[in-house]
Amino acid sequence: MVDLKSLDQFIGTLSKSDNTMEVAQQAFEFVAIPLGVSHITVDLNIPETRQTPQSEVRHVCVYVNELDGESETEIVWLEESHRTFENGLITAKVYAGIDTNWSNEERQLLLSAIRVFLIHIGRYHLVELVQKSAMTQYLTGLPNSGGYLSFVTQKMIAGELTSYNSYYFNLRGFGLVNRKFGPEETDNILRRYARTLLEFKLDDEIIGHLGGDNFVALIRKERTEQFLDLLKKTTLYGIKDGNKVPVALNAVTGVYNIDDSIKNPGQVISRSSIACSVARSLSSESFLFVTKEMSSKVYREKQIEDSFEDGLSNNEFQVYYQPKVDTDTNTVVGAEALSRWFCKGEYVYPTEFIPVLERNSFSIGLDIFVIEEVCRTIRSWIDKGLDPVPVSINFSRSDLTDEKLADQILAIVKKYDIDLSFIQIEVTETATAKDRGLITDFLNKLKGMNITSSIDDFGTGYSSLGILRDLPVNTIKIDKSFIEEETLTKRDEILLRNIIRMANELDIEVITEGVERADQIELLKRVGCHIVQGFYYDKPMSKTAFEARLEDKVYLRA
Ligand code: C2E
Ligand code: MG
Ligand code: MG
Repeated sequence: MVDLKSLDQFIGTLSKSDNTMEVAQQAFEFVAIPLGVSHITVDLNIPETRQTPQSEVRHVCVYVNELDGESETEIVWLEESHRTFENGLITAKVYAGIDTNWSNEERQLLLSAIRVFLIHIGRYHLVELVQKSAMTQYLTGLPNSGGYLSFVTQKMIAGELTSYNSYYFNLRGFGLVNRKFGPEETDNILRRYARTLLEFKLDDEIIGHLGGDNFVALIRKERTEQFLDLLKKTTLYGIKDGNKVPVALNAVTGVYNIDDSIKNPGQVISRSSIACSVARSLSSESFLFVTKEMSSKVYREKQIEDSFEDGLSNNEFQVYYQPKVDTDTNTVVGAEALSRWFCKGEYVYPTEFIPVLERNSFSIGLDIFVIEEVCRTIRSWIDKGLDPVPVSINFSRSDLTDEKLADQILAIVKKYDIDLSFIQIEVTETATAKDRGLITDFLNKLKGMNITSSIDDFGTGYSSLGILRDLPVNTIKIDKSFIEEETLTKRDEILLRNIIRMANELDIEVITEGVERADQIELLKRVGCHIVQGFYYDKPMSKTAFEARLEDKVYLRA
């Protein structure tokens, strides 16, 4: 007898598990056995849509009457369908012997059970879809970064990561494909590409799509060569004006031969992506293996980027002062402010952190901090009765995009009520015309405010004569490369003498930096430069040490 109680038991059992398919056999026994049902099948027919990039057709037997021996002829006695939200169809068919004879009520009960079952499958399918789409790139149906990382994590936990190479690849010239075929067909080409990649992939490997033309993969080490061959050239087709046109796709690939130094799954992506970006900048390479140096450099830069803001607010930055000395009188006539970062127990030097900060436009924060600290210090010297000297402060070229910078500088100097002549702004020589415009505007503003400026590293840019001609500067700092050679030649001397003469005639002051030896000072004196900065006199020193210098400005050495 099948009654409402059987239906209740059926529903109770189904609800026990999220996976309807798994408990179907158990649940159906309550209604199928009394009715002599021999088996129940389900056909899933899910079309290709935006949410489900791969269509799915599946035929599953969800119930078999195990008590029934080899039965006589069966027919479909009941067929019921359920439409899924993406317009797919799930159809259940109930088979029983040809001589089956159900009452109307029994038929209705069975139909209710089937409907409940279909709704359960629909819901299960939806949950699965939501989970999957959170892990899937919608266009190609390949795992996205989330799906990829979850696979990497599993492999990491299983201790199997080192059996793989990790790849990051990017399609070369894909913009051209886009222009030629238009966005819609380009999407189709990407889908075809994804399908080709999937054909290569084994069950325990993964290929992910991060979006655009960026892909990642974890492929077993022994298949490296084959995979690189595939990435080097894959020929597909695109439809243009109704015709199939061949498209050869060629990826630029970064490969990381995974070793046991991986600390977190993200490194599997980041290390190969470093190699990919290096390979991209070397246009001749289609693939590149990551090296330890590449990854530690990038790691270090990331550390600097991540800890800069906290470092600045935690007072980890200090301003050091390097004296500028008049070699005629051996006295301190000025100083340059140079920043030092005391970070996690070690000093980090500006040659390391400044370029990273400049790339992220963080340097302006530091430079404003430095000028403020310098002004505060000069104020304190005046208040203490020390006789201050002018201090120059470096501003990065990337700072100059801020149009308010000159006003900001002036406001800070005013705030500490110090004479403008105690401050000088250093900017480095520049290569591009756009930068040249920015520097000219900035220096003109400073000049209008009576703040002096100097060109740092003079002679290393591409048009030093142009600087002398165009820029309204007060000082040039001749780069140390001009005096660096072990033995200074006649040629060096002629060059320096004429730079200095030209500058002087233009009313531009000259200082030479990086002076370490007595013979350099002699040469500089001969050619007319008597203001120097360098280790010969002093290294950059802490504020307290520099204050001692200010007490007695004269060096006793010859
Ligand atoms: P720079 O402005 O040309 O500063 C001179 C650099 O040469 C300093 O390096 C200084 O320590 C070094 N130096 C001085 N005398 C000698 C010498 O006799 N021999 C040798 N070999 N080197 C000498 P530092 O302090 O490492 O700074 C490097 C660069 O970083 C600076 O070059 C400057 O461009 C930049 N920088 C430093 N502090 C800041 C800052 O607060 N803001 C900005 N934007 N840049 C800064
Ligand atoms: Mg400088
Ligand atoms: Mg310099």
